[in-house]
Amino acid sequence: MYGNFGEFLSKELLAIQEAGLFKRERIIVSEQSAEINMASGQKALNFCANNYLGLSSHPVIVRAAKNILKTHGYGMSSVRFICGTQDIHKTLEEKISKFLGTDDTLLYAACFDANGGVFECLFNEQDAIISDELNHASIIDGVRLCKAVRYRYKHSDMNDLEEQLKQSQSQRHRVVVTDGVFSMDGDIAKLSDICNLTEKYNALVMVDDSHATGFIGKTGRGTQEHCSVMGRVDIITSTLGKALGGAMGGFTSGRKEIIDMLRQRSRPYLFSNSLSPVITGAAIAVFDMLSGTTKLRDKLMNNTAYFRKKIKKAGFDIRPGESPIVPIMIYDAKLSQDFAEKLLLEGIYVIGFFYPVVPKDQARIRVQLSAAHKKQHLDKAIEEFEKVGMELGVVKK
Ligand SMILES: *Cc1c(COP(=O)(O)O)cnc(C)c1O
Repeated sequence: MYGNFGEFLSKELLAIQEAGLFKRERIIVSEQSAEINMASGQKALNFCANNYLGLSSHPVIVRAAKNILKTHGYGMSSVRFICGTQDIHKTLEEKISKFLGTDDTLLYAACFDANGGVFECLFNEQDAIISDELNHASIIDGVRLCKAVRYRYKHSDMNDLEEQLKQSQSQRHRVVVTDGVFSMDGDIAKLSDICNLTEKYNALVMVDDSHATGFIGKTGRGTQEHCSVMGRVDIITSTLGKALGGAMGGFTSGRKEIIDMLRQRSRPYLFSNSLSPVITGAAIAVFDMLSGTTKLRDKLMNNTAYFRKKIKKAGFDIRPGESPIVPIMIYDAKLSQDFAEKLLLEGIYVIGFFYPVVPKDQARIRVQLSAAHKKQHLDKAIEEFEKVGMELGVVKK
């Protein structure tokens, strides 16, 4: 009996709309790329994808996907431990371990699942999880599924982290968990300090490097390389759905015994389907490419430095940093929406974020750069930002 439940939901939905928080989807009719076609007929330059390395439609990756489709088929119709493990799953896990310098790796259907399946089977009520307050939703949900005692520290505040480490000292095992790169500010976790503290207080470290694997660090090994702590991070989770081809899939990588235990007990691994052969085979090509050359991440970092310099010079207030996530601060929520709307009319696709996704009066346009962007794309974006910025009084000349 559906009864009045539909009516109840309609009211809730209306409330979301009235609060200005209703999410609408813009339809793309082309492949994911720097230049995209919208269903409206409009063409746009895309500055809001997680396509950091431009691999989402890269010809080498598309070819690898087609080839594996011929040799290994489309689907697995099984979980890994029944009949869902092909040679390519093992190959990909080995390649990821080698790339990150870890003992072993376990694939998941998504990083959301990797984070959902990591805590509950490693820690219980005798243990403690100490989490950065701005960690990704999937970490928060994963922690919720676990009986360990929860501690939270202020965002990247090392004094507060030390305080939480002191307060949790009676717990048996403790793990400090952080995003590697935080998605709304583009800032990088202070992994060197975190590793020093966890060594002093005898705790494990887990990093979710979804916005870092493949491009942060001199050879793209992620925040552990950027912060010079290779080998000191015990658990790394990350996604194949952003820089690494952008299809879907995730993984947990780290110390041998930890991955061994996840293979036995991690619920999204045991009770959810194997990663599709197409994605698995294409991801192997991604890691082969990134292990051979840093060309794409170098291009991305050059694009990032160029865009950051020019947009600052144009008078915009940006969050400082080095990551290809560039938050352009607008502060006012409505203004951020108008700004993004006008930019789209000029052919620049970006999204304005406001409360509750970011703190109140901290609305911003989050630009994400890609190795797929050409210099003329960047120049066009900067030009349109300047034009709309002056029109709306965000910058003055
Ligand atoms: C995107 C993201 C995820 C989710 O990854 P999926 O593979 O899309 O599920 C998890 N953690 C962080 C930090 C992310 O940015």
